[in-house]
This record gives sequence, C-alpha cells and structure tokens, in this order.
Amino acid sequence: MTGPRHSCGVVGVSSKFDVVLDIHRSLRMIQHRGQESAGISVFDGSGVRTVKGDGLVQVALNENNMKDLHGTSGIGHVRYPSASSKDSINAQPIDMHTSHGTMSIAHNGDITNYSELRTNYLGQGWSFLTSSDSEMMLKLISKYMQQYKEPIKAIRSMMSEVDGAYSLTILVNNRIFGVRDPYGFRPLCIGNTGDGHILVSESTAIESLRGKFIRDVMPGEIVEITDSKILSYPNPATSPKAHCMFEWIYFARPDSVIDGREVYLVRKNVGMILSKECPADIDVVMSVPDSGRSHALGYAIGAKVPYEEGFMKNRFVERTFILPDQKQREEAVMMKMSPIKSTVNGKKVLIVDDSIVRGTTLLKLIGMLRDAGAKEVHVRIGCPPVIAPCYYGVDMKTREQFIANKFSLDEITRRMGADSLGYISIEGLVKAIGLPESDLCLACVNNRYPTHIKGEVHRFQSTLQDDFDKTGQSKCKK
Ligand code: AMP
Repeated sequence: MTGPRHSCGVVGVSSKFDVVLDIHRSLRMIQHRGQESAGISVFDGSGVRTVKGDGLVQVALNENNMKDLHGTSGIGHVRYPSASSKDSINAQPIDMHTSHGTMSIAHNGDITNYSELRTNYLGQGWSFLTSSDSEMMLKLISKYMQQYKEPIKAIRSMMSEVDGAYSLTILVNNRIFGVRDPYGFRPLCIGNTGDGHILVSESTAIESLRGKFIRDVMPGEIVEITDSKILSYPNPATSPKAHCMFEWIYFARPDSVIDGREVYLVRKNVGMILSKECPADIDVVMSVPDSGRSHALGYAIGAKVPYEEGFMKNRFVERTFILPDQKQREEAVMMKMSPIKSTVNGKKVLIVDDSIVRGTTLLKLIGMLRDAGAKEVHVRIGCPPVIAPCYYGVDMKTREQFIANKFSLDEITRRMGADSLGYISIEGLVKAIGLPESDLCLACVNNRYPTHIKGEVHRFQSTLQDDFDKTGQSKCKK
C-alpha cells in the first residue's frame, strides 16, 4: 500500500490575536496547491480543535463550521486532488490525542518509505485510521514524545525514520513548528504578520496578510514560531539539496518566491531560453492558459514576436488532468478552451505550455487551432520531456502514462498534428531557475533520483539502465 500522493499547501500562524481568519485567507492564497479538501486546526485554550471538509477553502471552511473556532495558534492545509485519493478521511490537518496533549499535522510531500514503516509498525501492534503517510509522521512524533517529553527531539527522531519529501506545519498543544525535509523538495517560508509569525508553502500568502517575508525554512531545519520569536533548530547533518524544479515550472504561483527565485521570472527565463534553443518562423506567440502564460511571454520577448491571447479558458470546467479516463480528459479540454479566431486565422502560430505529460491537452488544442484557421502550429514546452515518475509529491506516477516514453519526438509531433515541437533542454531549465543543478530534483526529466528509491537510479550513481534519454540536449523537431 502506498500513501496518497499529494503536492498540497500548508500554513501555520502564531499571533497575539485570533489566527483563524489569517489561516483561512492564507489557505485561499495557496488554493492552487490543492482543491480536494481544506482544514484548520487551532489550539483553543484547552486542546486542539480541527475543522475540515471537501472542496475549495470557502466551501470546506464556511461560516457555519468555523463560527466557534478560535485560538491564537493554528495550522491549515489544502489538499491536492489525484485520481487515486478521493477519500475524505485523508483530509488534513490530522489531529491526535496523546498523553502529552493534543497534536495536529499538515503535510506537503510524499514519504517514500511509508509502506515499509506501515508494515513494520502494524507488526508492532499499531493501528492506523487513514492510509496517509502524514498520520504515520504524527504517530512517530507521539511515540518519541513519550521518550523525550519534548517536541524538538521528538520531531528530529521522526525525521530520522522517514525518507522522502515533507514540508510540515505541526501544532503541539499551543506550540507551532515548521519542518522541511533535509533535501528541501517542497517549499516552506516564514513571515512576520505584524501581530505574530506565519509559516506557509508560498510567500504570496504572507503579502496577502500585509506581512513581511523573512526567509525560507532551510532544508532539514525545524523552526518554532511564537507571536514574538522564531526559534531555529538547523539540520545537524549536511545533506545535498533537491528542490523540485516542477514547483517553478508548474505548481507554484508566479508571484511566489521560492528559495530565492521568483516563479514568474523563472518561467519568463524559460521562455526566453526556449526561443533561442528552438526558434521558429512565426507570426504570433500564444499560451495554453494559464499554465503556459509566463513561459509564452518570455518566448515572445526572446523571439521579438508579438504575444497574443489565443485561447479563452472556461474556469468552471472540472480539472482535466485528474479525470480517470482519456475520453473524459479530452472532452473536458474541449469544454475548457476555445480559440480566439483573430489571433489564429491565417497565421503561423506558436503555442507554449509549461509541460507535456500524457499529451492530452495539446493534442486537442492543436486541432482546435487548425479548425480556427491557423496556417501553421508550432509547439514549445517549458519543461524537458517528462519520462520518470515523481515519488516526492507531484501527481505523475507511472512511466506508461508519459507520452515521451511511448513515442519519439517525430511521432509525437505528427500525432499531435503540429508543424514543429520543441522542449527546453535540462541545461536550459537549470539556467532559467538560476540555482546549481546539484541543488535541484530533476528526477522526472533525467530519471535520476536524489534519494534511494528501490529499483531506480540514484543521481550520484553511474547509470544502471539506458532505456531513457539522459542527454539533456535541447529537443526541437520540425
Ligand atoms: P497532459 O495534457 O497530460 O500532457 O498534461 C499537461 C498539462 O497538464 C499541462 O497543461 C500542465 O500545465 C498540466 N499538468 C502538468 N502536470 C500536472 C499535474 N501533476 N497535475 C495537474 N496538472 C498538471
């Protein structure tokens, strides 16, 4: 059994005043990180109280179920939907009553040794309420609280047992902790709200509270925030970093700054580099809204070609990516996007998206552009071909689902009905992000994993298998 995959959003606030509204507002600001469920836990003076529900923040956490929720310290969570995890019992935060009081946890990421831990602890007589790796982490903290009677040592001991990706906010009675795994896969940052402090997945939420960004939580660091202080417990060991590149490419909001790099700027850089790596003779650049917008703008600037809106997006159609079957996904794309004819008709069009996974979105969109009278359709992608599954929290699970593993670049171009197709190179992507390659997790595009995963190649290992392209060369085909 594996825990449900989730690249979600977390928050924790400590203040002189009631934190519930601040947490609610922050969750709305990181809503893009998860729409399946939302929840808030606060310490109400006697214990931890949690309210959570399915759906968007304002539906899951509404006037009715929130009216009696008050406290000066609390945490929150938004959960990302995936086809396999539509179970409300897995909604977060997860709370627990222990002999040391009440505790609650909100988790973004994926624990890679969850199955082994679960088998091991089931064998020792533990029972679990959920299939969630976050419950495992909370139980481990509780176990070590028995031993150490102190949260920092308990959290550090939990960290020594789990592998993989985790950015956490944890409430232990009225105390708030933030934790980032030693690789720093998922983001987590700290801000000052004026009346206290906040821990949150993305910096944009801090600004929405009129607060001030202070810094990112360091990989492997535990922090405790109070209304007046930030206490830091850095990683006692040195480990290599592995920030997920997909946060900049797709997942995070363009106005967030992650590990010192603004997401919008990175995406614009990607587009500009792509325009040099994969040029084309075109009249207009357009994007797949909203995911390819900033990359497309960068391409247009780099290529010195006008950028135009080419598709209107219907925001009220369900998420296409997580629909269970291919026909449903294709139909949903058709309902979601419609072309703007004056941008397209009679033109040589270049369309940019952030990534290709199964190829569903672009296959449909190219057909629509042809129907709208496009003379030529060129496709550019702001992420190298996705060829390997993510074990660290992004919902891309099996090699068979990736179109880049099924067909060559020529075949994909032909099947999509494009005149040309070009992906940014791994080298170009790293340059666009602006951090050293050794600080990034690029496993989904280079098939080399920063942590040990059974059956996979570790990034510091020499190659075991050569069935995937690891050249990192720019891929552009006419
Ligand atoms: P596909 O249509 O399967 O090629 O998926 C690519 C499209 O889905 C792009 O427009 C991306 O912005 C978006 N996308 C990529 N990865 C994910 C993900 N893990 N969850 C949801 N959407 C994604």
